Formats: sequence, structure tokens, C-alpha cells
Amino acid sequence: MRREEARVAAQPSTAAPALILLGPPGAGKGTQAQLLIERRGMVQLSTGDMLRAAVAAGTPVGQEARAIMERGELVPDSVVSALIDEALGRIPAGQGVIFDGYPRTVAQAEALDGLLARHARRLSRVIELQVDEEALIDRISGRFACARCGAGYHDRHKRPRAPGVCDVCGSTEFRRRPDDTAETVRTRLAEYRAKTAPILPVYEARGLVARVDGMAPIEEVARAIDRLLVDADRPHP
Ligand code: ADP
Ligand code: ADP
Ligand code: ZN
Repeated sequence: MRREEARVAAQPSTAAPALILLGPPGAGKGTQAQLLIERRGMVQLSTGDMLRAAVAAGTPVGQEARAIMERGELVPDSVVSALIDEALGRIPAGQGVIFDGYPRTVAQAEALDGLLARHARRLSRVIELQVDEEALIDRISGRFACARCGAGYHDRHKRPRAPGVCDVCGSTEFRRRPDDTAETVRTRLAEYRAKTAPILPVYEARGLVARVDGMAPIEEVARAIDRLLVDADRPHP
């Protein structure tokens, strides 16, 4: 969209948006983050992806996180906040950021306030993706991703355009997450309800929360998020 590009390019660097995508496992956070990267040149900060990379690399963080993630429980707050701190330090000030899967506890939300201040950023929006529980199970059980670039797919809702070939990078290898099992999903949903949902009232009190119907088709959800970002980008008087 030409008009939007021009408007984004005209933004002063301090106005680069910082957006939180909040929602239970399978709500579509990663899918929407991927679309925001393509459409708006934002950077995705997914603590889940960072932790999986640490597990694969066998770093001390990965060794600590592995068993916790396999059970579907939450990794300690200090571990994930340190990952976000490092990542924020690497991103140019003018580039917008999307927090995907972080913060996940009230303590992480408090830590994020400090990190944003330190990296001279301001939270523009918290978008809650609302999805029914049965749909979450269906989405997670059909989820797979490109083994090379990480692009996300679904057995029924989002197949690669050419069967067996990644739309983004052309790879023919795909993988499924070891924690995407019915058993683990139940734990992850319980963790979300007990520890993550209490973040919403905190941001609500600051007037930052917008709700999006995550049951709609992927492109429709993306349009709803786009509309919210255009509003959030408007300079405050
Ligand atoms: P999250 O990052 O919130 O855990 P994902 O973005 O990985 O969720 O989405 C979970 C699964 O559901 C993926 O397989 C994805 O392709 C699919 N999906 C995402 N959004 C939608 C949607 N709006 N409708 C149907 N399927 C979706
Ligand atoms: P999903 O979006 O499907 O819930 P993620 O990829 O965001 O999955 O997270 C996978 C797992 O990584 C979580 O179940 C948890 O063990 C760990 N994890 C990711 N982000 C965080 C976080 N911010 N705090 C604590 N644990 C996290
Ligand atoms: Zn790929």
C-alpha cells in the first residue's frame, strides 16, 4: 500500500510502534506477526522462537528451558526478560517491534516497562486475539512450520501454495513442535489462564488494549490489526 508506506516512512524514529500480540497458544500471534513483518517492516520478538533456538543450540538457557517447555510450563521471568533486553539492543531505533508471546506474566509486563524505557521505546498497543478453546486445540494439532525459515502453516487452514514447498523460502522440509500435543496444550492453556490473562487488566487500566476476533480468517484478522495500528500511529496531540 503506497499511501501507508509514505506515512510510515515519514514517522520520526521515536514513534516506531511497539506492539504486544497477546492471546493463548494457537491464537494466531506468530501468523499475524509474520504478516506485519511483510506488510510493515516490523521486527518480531518471539520469546518462544528465541527459546527454541537456545534449546537447539544447547546454550545454558536452552538447557534450563528444554524440560519446562516440554511440560508446557513457563520459563522463569528473568530468563525471558534477559532475552528481550538483548534483542531490543540489536534493533535499530526506527524499526517497529512486535512482542509475540511476551510478556506472559505480570512480572514480565513490569520488566518490559523498564526495558522499553531503557531502549527509548513506548508501547503503542496491546492486541488481544480472542479464539475459542476448541479452535485452539484444532489449530495447534494441525500446526507445522518451515524447517529453514520458520514460516508457519496449518494442515487445513494454511497449506503451502505449492504442496510440500515453503511459500517464503522454497524449502521442502517442515517440522512440528514437540510441545504441540493435546496433553501439553492443556497445561499451556491453564498457564495462560492463570498467569498471562491477569496482564490484561494492567494494560486495560492504561487504555492500551484492543480486542480482535481471532476466529476470523487470517487475512481478516490482519486487516483488523492494520486498522488498529493506523490509529495508534497517529501523533498524539
Ligand atoms: P500462536 O503464535 O498464537 O501460538 P500461530 O500463529 O502459530 O499461533 O497459529 C496456530 C495455527 O493456527 C497455525 O497452524 C496457523 O497456520 C493457524 N492459524 C493462525 N491464524 C488462523 C486463523 N485466523 N484461522 C485459521 N487458522 C489460523
Ligand atoms: P505458543 O504461542 O504456542 O504458546 P510459544 O512459542 O510462545 O508458544 O512458547 C512455547 C513455550 O516457550 C511456552 O509454552 C513456554 O514454555 C516457553 N515460553 C515462551 N515465551 C515465554 C515467556 N514469555 N515466559 C515464559 N515462558 C515462555
Ligand atoms: Zn521457508
